[in-house]
Amino acid sequence: MLIDSHAHLEMPEFRQDLTEVIQRAKASGVEYIFTVGTEKKDWTRALEIAHSYPSVYAVLGVHPHNAREIDEETYPTLRKLCADDKVRAYGEIGLDFYRNLSPQDVQLKRFREQTQFARELGLPIVVHDREAHQETLGVLKSEKAEDCGGIIHCFSGDYHMAKECIEMGFCISIPGTVTFKKTGEFHEIIKRLPLESLLIETDAPFLAPVPFRGKRNEPSYVRYTAQKVAEIKKVSLEKVAEVTTENAIRVYRLKC
Ligand SMILES: [Zn+2]
Ligand SMILES: [Zn+2]
Repeated sequence: MLIDSHAHLEMPEFRQDLTEVIQRAKASGVEYIFTVGTEKKDWTRALEIAHSYPSVYAVLGVHPHNAREIDEETYPTLRKLCADDKVRAYGEIGLDFYRNLSPQDVQLKRFREQTQFARELGLPIVVHDREAHQETLGVLKSEKAEDCGGIIHCFSGDYHMAKECIEMGFCISIPGTVTFKKTGEFHEIIKRLPLESLLIETDAPFLAPVPFRGKRNEPSYVRYTAQKVAEIKKVSLEKVAEVTTENAIRVYRLKC
């Protein structure tokens, strides 16, 4: 059994064949999928999908790309939606200093604010960090993120950062990019991290692993990421599946 800890099933890329995508995941051993609604227009769709398919859960929040769209209605709306039992975490929130679709100062302000909001809601957070490692760590520390814990999704930091995040109660989520060539440094980091702190994810429809690189990603492909993690850590695929599944159940507090 595998869990795709992070996907975006509400995105238009899945509008045509969502049921088949979820069935293919099941057939590949992917028991649960966490779909992340990153902006206002996606929240209700993500929840709808979670309610239509027993294997799908939702994560809701405002992505750093959309940080500048937060207004006075955002938090009251999210407070209502997040009360739903199918919502298992708050996110993805964080910093993206690569694309800078919202100004950096706005991203920082909203990341701090949303971390506090998640703590108030009693939900773990799903963190997006692209080219903002030091700043991300800084916010996690200053906003006492160890109180809620959560996941650093699509991890791209160094070993030191991973270790600090794990000490704050976070899991490190490995995306399909781990199957690409020229990722030796990332492999070394994974080798040194305890399997008990790792998750696997697709971030579908983005970041498809080899042999589907460049195509639309989907949750069934999380198996290729699990396989690569098994090779790197020199353990069986079954072991990676078992432990990362336990980790996801723990961090998302699933009752199963
Ligand atoms: Zn992300
Ligand atoms: Zn994402």
